[in-house]
Amino acid sequence: MGLLEGKNALVFGLANDKSIAWGITQAFHREGANLGISYAGEMLERRVKPLAEKVGCQWVEECDVTKDDQIAATAEKAAQHFGKIDVLVHSIAFAGKDELSKPYYQTSRDGFKNALDISVFSFVALTNAFLPIMNPGGSIMCLTYYGSVKVAPNYNVMGVAKAALESSTRYLAFDLGPQKIRVNAISAGPIRTLAAAGVGGFRDMYKHFADAAPLRENVTIDDVGNAAVFLASDLSARITGEVLYVDSGFNTVGVQISPKEEKSE
Ligand code: NAP
Repeated sequence: MGLLEGKNALVFGLANDKSIAWGITQAFHREGANLGISYAGEMLERRVKPLAEKVGCQWVEECDVTKDDQIAATAEKAAQHFGKIDVLVHSIAFAGKDELSKPYYQTSRDGFKNALDISVFSFVALTNAFLPIMNPGGSIMCLTYYGSVKVAPNYNVMGVAKAALESSTRYLAFDLGPQKIRVNAISAGPIRTLAAAGVGGFRDMYKHFADAAPLRENVTIDDVGNAAVFLASDLSARITGEVLYVDSGFNTVGVQISPKEEKSE
């Protein structure tokens, strides 16, 4: 029997088969969850529907998380289709190209507002909208990155947004704990996705990561999916307000030595 058998799980942020949301969706499907998928933009026919069909997902809804009415309508549709839900995944982020390539001090007011609205406030707004249909024992999670706690060149306003997202995770966990609903974040190492492609210098960072991380390997969407299964399942029943790193150990290393220097020791 799968770890998520009998659970209704909604995943927000599926853009294509490279998305972290797709790794999570596939892992949830493998473990027997009944799935719902939400996406933004106009990729339904071309990208999202074929993926939803692969995992037998009947509930596929567009939701632009900058729009309160769309969030409310999506929650209403979920209530009608599922009744109650057990898992909510937020795998959404956005920052403009300028914000991810210029120096941080040149961040525009609108760029700052947009990045924090889409990447952080939406997590709070989705939690609020879906709380009435969350079962006790439920699990809510979001995706974050190490640029929240240390400087990652060009990550800029997104690092600031991820810091706010991780803090929101703790505040939400505190609020929802009495209702036996857990809220956690997964901090993933760099993965080649649409969102990552927007970060200046991502390619070099991606290459450097595998050299510097203790496990000497990049992270895949399947690795993140497996961690998400753990957080969604009853195996993590007493874990809330945490940031779970899925990064081959990268965040644990304080002084990085290139493989060449290592060999010469
Ligand atoms: P992705 O496939 O591009 O997913 C990002 C998603 O956010 C897309 O589905 C995008 O939809 C959605 N989105 C953007 N604006 C939205 C809006 N207004 N309303 C609703 N959805 C919106 O990239 P990803 O890397 O899998 O990103 C998923 C999460 O993982 C993000 O929180 C990201 O910061 C985090 N993360 C990524 C990495 C990495 O290296 N890739 C590492 C750590 C954490 P559209 O494309 O249709 O706009």
